[in-house]
Amino acid sequence: MIKIPSPLQQISWSLADQKGVELWIKRDDLIHPQISGNKWRKLLYNVELVKQKGYKGILTFGGAFSNHIAATAFAGKYFGIPTVGIIRGEEADLNNPTLAEAHKNGMEIIPVTREEYKTKETDAFLEELALHFPNHWIVPEGGSNLQGVIGCMDILSEVNVEFDQIFTGVGTATTLSGIVASATGVSVTGVSALKGGGYLRAHVNNFLQSLEESEETAATFRPSNNWNIEERFHCGGFGKVNQELVEFMNAFFQETRIPLDPVYTSKVMFGVKKMLELDEISRGQKLLVLHTGGLQGIRGMNKRLTNKPYQIEYEAFID
Ligand SMILES: *Cc1c(COP(=O)(O)O)cnc(C)c1O
Repeated sequence: MIKIPSPLQQISWSLADQKGVELWIKRDDLIHPQISGNKWRKLLYNVELVKQKGYKGILTFGGAFSNHIAATAFAGKYFGIPTVGIIRGEEADLNNPTLAEAHKNGMEIIPVTREEYKTKETDAFLEELALHFPNHWIVPEGGSNLQGVIGCMDILSEVNVEFDQIFTGVGTATTLSGIVASATGVSVTGVSALKGGGYLRAHVNNFLQSLEESEETAATFRPSNNWNIEERFHCGGFGKVNQELVEFMNAFFQETRIPLDPVYTSKVMFGVKKMLELDEISRGQKLLVLHTGGLQGIRGMNKRLTNKPYQIEYEAFID
């Protein structure tokens, strides 16, 4: 299976320079324009397993603007694996750019109501799916399974610079788990993209426990014992943005030419900015921020912002 390492870049950013902090970004957004970032990492070992075990397809779940849905559809096309997406809620129409692209890439889109979607992990729902889609490998929402975590453990194996702190975005905390599991001696902060994301600490601990018990990761499991989920920078909740955040994204792009996505990496970098301003990050520290991708979501976000006085200004740059 192909592993694609991503570039590591040191970024010149006036605020970090002024605070005497080194900022580096691991550009997983550059892995691929569509299966970008951590969704690629999380799918890689799932795809490998599907090929090895001869499953007929991949079935997975997500919201209408989900990066994971976009990535799974493209990976399915790329590797010749049929994909099925169970999509939450009424906005699951094919006019939205994420689903239109997923559909174009061959994903079978099955919209379900929000109520049905909530039952997606029950035995009854999964049995019904298995009847309709026999012998499909079921990947949880956001690619959040052990294969996903193991894929994210590859990220730091590509880094040979030593850092004091690592920052990453948190949705399901799968990526955070992979980073924590492979970051011995480094402090790791996951910035939650959702309100009240602290409950995800238990997910990280569960994944760490499974990794500790797994033979597959015996050689690579080197956990950090200094990690946290930061809950201050969700900016209104999952998938929400506000004017301050969008203006920050535009300014950050103007200065560094790094495009941030509206759901995750913008909030991570916004958190770093706030923590620098509050002197919560000491002078002399070397920071690694993971750019986990998600740029495909910019177009959908700008559509939702049509009636607002602010927009993400670099949509065209992404194409
Ligand atoms: C899905 C996603 C995340 C969150 O990753 P988890 O492993 O679910 O915590 C972060 N950044 C981007 C760009 C994503 O698409």
